[in-house]
Amino acid sequence: MASVILLAGGKGTRFKSPTPKQFLPLKEKIIALYSFDLFKSSPQIDEIIVVCDLPYQHFFSGPAIFAPPGATRQLSVFSGLLKSRSEMILVHDSARPLFEMQYLPPLLEAAERTGAAALGTAVTSTIKHVSSNHIVEKTLDRTHLWEIQTPQAIKRDLFFKAFEHMHAHNLEATDDISMIEMLNLPSEIVPCTPRNLKITTPFDLILAETLLSKDLCATN
Ligand code: C5P
Repeated sequence: MASVILLAGGKGTRFKSPTPKQFLPLKEKIIALYSFDLFKSSPQIDEIIVVCDLPYQHFFSGPAIFAPPGATRQLSVFSGLLKSRSEMILVHDSARPLFEMQYLPPLLEAAERTGAAALGTAVTSTIKHVSSNHIVEKTLDRTHLWEIQTPQAIKRDLFFKAFEHMHAHNLEATDDISMIEMLNLPSEIVPCTPRNLKITTPFDLILAETLLSKDLCATN
C-alpha cells in the first residue's frame, strides 16, 4: 500500500498572484483539490499527507494528514516523508490537477520493480542549451529526452537513504527520482500524456480549463 505526499506548499511566485497557484479556482474547485479528491477515492492509497501552510488546510476535507512546508520543494517532500507510514511513497505536485488515475497502477508496478519511478512524456520539441546571454551552446539529441511529471513513486527505505545522501552532500534536486540518480541507482519512467501539465503560468491555467471543458483526455 502507498502514502501520497501532496505538495501544496509553494508560493507560486512565477504565477504573480497573491494566492499560491494551487489554491486558485479551476472551473468548479480549487486546483489542489482535483488530485486530492482522486487520491481520496483510490483503494491503492492508504494515507494522504498534504504539505501546506496552516491557513490553507481547511480546503482539504476528509482523511488528510498535514505537514508544514519547507523552504524548497525538496524540504517540503522531506517534511511529508517524516509523517508517512507506508512502504511505498508517492509524491505529487498539487499544481498538476489533470493527473488521471489510470496511470497509478503502472507507476506503482514500476516502482515495485525498479525502486523508483515517475510519469513522463517524450519531448517533441528541439531542446537547446543556451547561455544566459541567449547564445546557443549545444543542441541535445531529443531521441532520449523525456519531460518528467508527477506522481513519482519511491520505496520508503530508498527514499530515506536518498535524503541522507542529499543532506550529507548539501545537494538540491527539482524532482524526486533525481535523488535516486544521485545515488547511482536506477529509476524508471512510465509514459503519460502531456495532458498531465503543471500549472506554472496563467497560460497553463487557460490550457487546463480548456482541457477540462472539452475533456480531451481520450484524444491526446
Ligand atoms: O515550483 P514548482 O512548480 O516546481 O513546485 C512544484 C510543487 O511543489 C507545487 O505543487 C508547489 O506547491 C510545491 N512546493 C512545495 N514547497 C515548496 C516549493 C514548492 O510544496 N517550498
